[in-house]
Amino acid sequence: MHNFSYQNGELYAEDVPLATIAQQVGTPSYVYSQATLERHFKVFDQAFEDLDHLVCFAVKANSSQAVIATLAHLGAGADIVSGGELVRGMAAGVPADRIVYSGVGKSEAEMQAALEAGILMFNLESAQELVALNEVAGRMGLKAPVSLRVNPDVDAQTHPKITTGLSKNKFGLDVDLAFKQYQEAANLPNLQLKGVSCHIGSQLTKVDPFADALERLGVLIGRLRGAGIELELLDLGGGLGITYDQEEPPSPAQYAQALKEQAARLGLKLVLEPGRVIVGNAGILLCRVLFTKDTPTKHFVIVDAGMNDLVRPAMYDSYQAIWPVKQDGGGSKVISDVVGPICETGDFLARDRELPDLVRGELIAVMSAGAYGFSMASTYNSRPRVAEVMVSGGRWSVVRRRETVEELMRGERLPEWME
Ligand SMILES: *Cc1c(COP(=O)(O)O)cnc(C)c1O
Repeated sequence: MHNFSYQNGELYAEDVPLATIAQQVGTPSYVYSQATLERHFKVFDQAFEDLDHLVCFAVKANSSQAVIATLAHLGAGADIVSGGELVRGMAAGVPADRIVYSGVGKSEAEMQAALEAGILMFNLESAQELVALNEVAGRMGLKAPVSLRVNPDVDAQTHPKITTGLSKNKFGLDVDLAFKQYQEAANLPNLQLKGVSCHIGSQLTKVDPFADALERLGVLIGRLRGAGIELELLDLGGGLGITYDQEEPPSPAQYAQALKEQAARLGLKLVLEPGRVIVGNAGILLCRVLFTKDTPTKHFVIVDAGMNDLVRPAMYDSYQAIWPVKQDGGGSKVISDVVGPICETGDFLARDRELPDLVRGELIAVMSAGAYGFSMASTYNSRPRVAEVMVSGGRWSVVRRRETVEELMRGERLPEWME
């Protein structure tokens, strides 16, 4: 569900014609619907309403201040994976005690910043990380609230690059090892054992892997209880998929249904870390056709956005729907490759796609670009990062202005011997 739709033959974001945004802000631009964002968060949150729970938005999916603040107003916490995301989350109004900090490689400076802020919990992923955090907290005279991230070794049945819960993946601790590490951690004076966590992957379209992971965590929680270790929080991570093409992922209600009974039995407060399912379909990438060209084998539509702006097709071979801003009048279709200006063969947004005959100057919307879109953008080919626009009803606002080339070079200098 989202709020991008055709009205009188023209594509709108809520009540704003995308053509108006393109004209005033230029292209490419990311455009977000605040109504979609709010709805997605509420539907997800309400799916768990009969359980004690906290929904921590995974900031890496979309780190825009306007997006995080929209969710924070609805009571969202944040799942962060860096010191930068800590600053962003707090600047956007997420209270520190609703922030969980995940990731395999936290630096001591990042640990210190998060301890100073007073976050809810660190999700730790290795024995050495436990020791390091214990030391940092000790130096600060604090006790760090921690969970261990378990790698439950379940197959998320998603793209290999976004599978994180298999034992060959770098994430988490295997269940038996985690049990041992909890016992060691209990002896570290500056750690407070607070919870257990997992995150098995992204863009999952079935509930079974989540339920399997929860079951394995449940066994571990039982063993820990037997060993006198009581926890408060059960963090099940994120990963619920969305519809990009023909996928039929479970709804948040179905997802919650599959987990609630088991979770309730364990008696811990549930933490959830959804990213994609909240923002994915709440954003589009608005771009313009620069040229078209035919080769002996292909029809190319060259647009002004590339893999540096939206890397998902290049990185994960992912499908992004392409909608023309001026509604297709039902004319002839052309099998097209939609490609960007970057000097890489991997720079494409769509391949062998049946599309209307797009012409030079025409606007298109790359759909479902709200998650892992702008947040993964780079400046490769010295392309400044694009503008971001938030729409709410008939209002719209540039929530991040287009970067300039001067900003790209800021901080650079020649070596002294060349000046
Ligand atoms: C990326 C990530 C998430 C969010 O994943 P989605 O698939 O976007 O829901 C949640 N938790 C952790 C630890 C992550 O790394």
